[in-house]
Amino acid sequence: MTTTPNPVRNVRFEIHRSDSPVPADRRAQLVADPGFGQVFTDHMITIRWSAEQGWHDAQLRPYGPLQLDPATAVLHYSQSIFEGFKAYHQDSGGVKTFRPDANARRFNRSAARLALPALPEEIFVEAADLLIQNDREWVPTAEEHSLYIRPFMFATEVFLGVRPAREYLFIVLASPAGAYFAKGVKPVSVWLSEDYVRAAPGGTGEAKCGGNYAASLVAQQQAADNGCDQVVWLDAAEHRQVEEMGGMNLFFVYGSEEREVTLVTPELTGTLLPGVTRDSLLTLGREMGYKVEERRVSVDEWRRDLGSGNLTEAFACGTAAVITPVGEVKSATGGFVVRDGQPGPITMKLRRMLLDIQHGRVPDQHGWLHAVV
Ligand SMILES: *Cc1c(COP(=O)(O)O)cnc(C)c1O
Repeated sequence: MTTTPNPVRNVRFEIHRSDSPVPADRRAQLVADPGFGQVFTDHMITIRWSAEQGWHDAQLRPYGPLQLDPATAVLHYSQSIFEGFKAYHQDSGGVKTFRPDANARRFNRSAARLALPALPEEIFVEAADLLIQNDREWVPTAEEHSLYIRPFMFATEVFLGVRPAREYLFIVLASPAGAYFAKGVKPVSVWLSEDYVRAAPGGTGEAKCGGNYAASLVAQQQAADNGCDQVVWLDAAEHRQVEEMGGMNLFFVYGSEEREVTLVTPELTGTLLPGVTRDSLLTLGREMGYKVEERRVSVDEWRRDLGSGNLTEAFACGTAAVITPVGEVKSATGGFVVRDGQPGPITMKLRRMLLDIQHGRVPDQHGWLHAVV
């Protein structure tokens, strides 16, 4: 043993398997129609961190409730972050995750912003692998189904003072997820939020933290009150530049199948969450011969270019729903309809391409898939 312990070698997983796993017939029922985020597998991963010991006490253990002291720091000041990615049943058999290393890197960027300790990327990936391997029977095989992986970390120190905590817990959960669009892809309507902002320069918009979501709920409620499915966030200063849709990044398609296509997505200014799906689509778009641009897009431009016919499609993208077409835009000052509310061909082509890669139906030319089982 050296005096400066290698944080990676220090972590050895203890395996404690559940002695009361969900019976196979009940599991099959749950996995056949899981919805989203309601059903969890038999196990979870927990790893603890303390200022004295660093990462330690890594376990695979039965899924179950945590016991927390009411003065646990996270319950008061929300020092917590999360990630989300998916494991896909491969058409050739086996199970693979999609770019878990990218999520591991983003997790650490979020950790840095919220003053949480960094978790070595290999432990992040290994923890998810171990959970999926033990709960492999929970990976759905149906078209567009997947096993959603939810790593998260929060401050567990029992202390009401305001400073970074000295103790944390990292957990990984797995939850079977059904097709986002069970009845076929249907474009969403969006509300341009002018009363609320998601992120301001210097804030936490770039970090995947629960607090961002807590602050978004009232705007999402306002969108629903105005008959919309989702909220679209605009820049904090002027409420003119388009940033994101709910928990997804946005893309605009210029041109059409016959004419030259340009994919435009709002640039990462520090107030947007840098999506792995967004990044993957920029790469795929380029390879499909489209021009791709990361730049500012204003609401005025969206309306004007749609009117002139230059802007032909709009869609949102993220791990949970892959790609969701945007069919209608509403705001306090009016609205406009994109493509008669129908999904566009470029949107659907990109969606198909990404799903085909994730399920192993086309060659993985980018090394995006990580073999787990
Ligand atoms: C997670 C998230 C996204 C999408 O990221 P992916 O890595 O593509 O799933 C976009 N916006 C917000 C606010 C998010 O939290």
